[in-house]
Amino acid sequence: MSKDIDHMLLSCPLLDRQIDEGACYDINAVADGWVKERILSIIEQQFKVLIDISKAKSVCPKCIHYPFEVD
Ligand code: SF4
Repeated sequence: MSKDIDHMLLSCPLLDRQIDEGACYDINAVADGWVKERILSIIEQQFKVLIDISKAKSVCPKCIHYPFEVD
């Protein structure tokens, strides 16, 4: 893996591994109800994980990588 790609990875407490910003955004878009949950199957295959959206709803807003504005 190149150094440039390493810099783009996030240490994700939800999945306990490094993920890219796009995966983080998609997980939160599902958690917030913007897009359908089935888009997560691509991320689950890519990172070989199962994504628990109810857990994401509690973990992600407290994460330093949370991609959305917090009220
Ligand atoms: S906001 Fe959620 S999906 Fe994104 S890195 Fe943090 S825990 Fe992972």
